[in-house]
Amino acid sequence: MWTIFGQDHLLKRLEPSLKQRRQSHAYLLSGPSHVGKMALATNMCQAVNCLDGFGEPCGSCTQCTRIAQGHHSDIRILAPGQGEEGRSAKTMIGINEIKEALRRVHLNPYEGSTSVVIIDGAESMSDDGANALLKTLEEPPPQVMFLLLTANEDAVLPTVRSRCQTMILVPLPKDKMIERLVTDHQATPELAEQLFRLSRGCLGWAIGALENSQVLEQRQADLEKIKETLDAGLETRFTYANEVASLFGTDRDAAKDLLALWLRWWRDLLLIKEGAEEFLHNSDHADSLRNQASGLSTAEIVQFINRLMQTLSNLDSNVSPRLAMEVLMLNLPIEAGQV
Ligand SMILES: [Zn+2]
Repeated sequence: MWTIFGQDHLLKRLEPSLKQRRQSHAYLLSGPSHVGKMALATNMCQAVNCLDGFGEPCGSCTQCTRIAQGHHSDIRILAPGQGEEGRSAKTMIGINEIKEALRRVHLNPYEGSTSVVIIDGAESMSDDGANALLKTLEEPPPQVMFLLLTANEDAVLPTVRSRCQTMILVPLPKDKMIERLVTDHQATPELAEQLFRLSRGCLGWAIGALENSQVLEQRQADLEKIKETLDAGLETRFTYANEVASLFGTDRDAAKDLLALWLRWWRDLLLIKEGAEEFLHNSDHADSLRNQASGLSTAEIVQFINRLMQTLSNLDSNVSPRLAMEVLMLNLPIEAGQV
């Protein structure tokens, strides 16, 4: 049974080839953060190794169970911020890690029928690492599947992309997500609606927020900082830039989520300028948004949104996080009336 939810368009495509054991050697799973890329990847690992399922994971055989528990020795996950003696400031998947994974896939699977290499954050591969992978993708060994996960498909080397079957994961529509959160996760309809708005249809984020109250608390704290930074002088802004850069070194996904929150905040400021308040993402902060919007021109807001998008793209291209954040903070407008 597939546990991934809301991606039926992909399962329809996958099932026939899985049934015939003729799946592709490499897939690119593309979609926004928390949309379910790792959940689908896990299901695919199960489907190709399952002892009982027929084109889909049974969910209960030893293979499916060990994969779900993260114990299967033929499934290898590469991600930034992991490996290489646990050093923290690692924002890239380096050549050594990729070479080590490639060396292993040339051996026979140890406990299952198919080895899988999951590259979580495929846009974060170093250029030499991506080129090493490319060579293997061009002549893949049998019984191996590569799953490349990315929230920024354009930042993945085009030659690598062209060797993969692309599967685009989509956020859930409102009614489906609310139904799922209410029936399977015991959320009240009001909370489910709020989580839909905050998660923008990405179920993983909504479930995370339901299971851990710190997620919503962290969002509030992050929004307070975003608000304060606009009112602050350059010194405070630089301190903040360093905090985010450090976060980037220890938890790349959390740092990118934080910048995505910045982006939504600034898009909300623009919506207020355009008189479209009903579409606000952070509608629980409408007063603060109105207040800040009144001190900024539309041109300033648009320019800063462009800067934010450029920063996110630069970070995916492995620009120094500290430099990228400092440049961003230098471009943060100064509110009218502020000295
Ligand atoms: Zn199974």
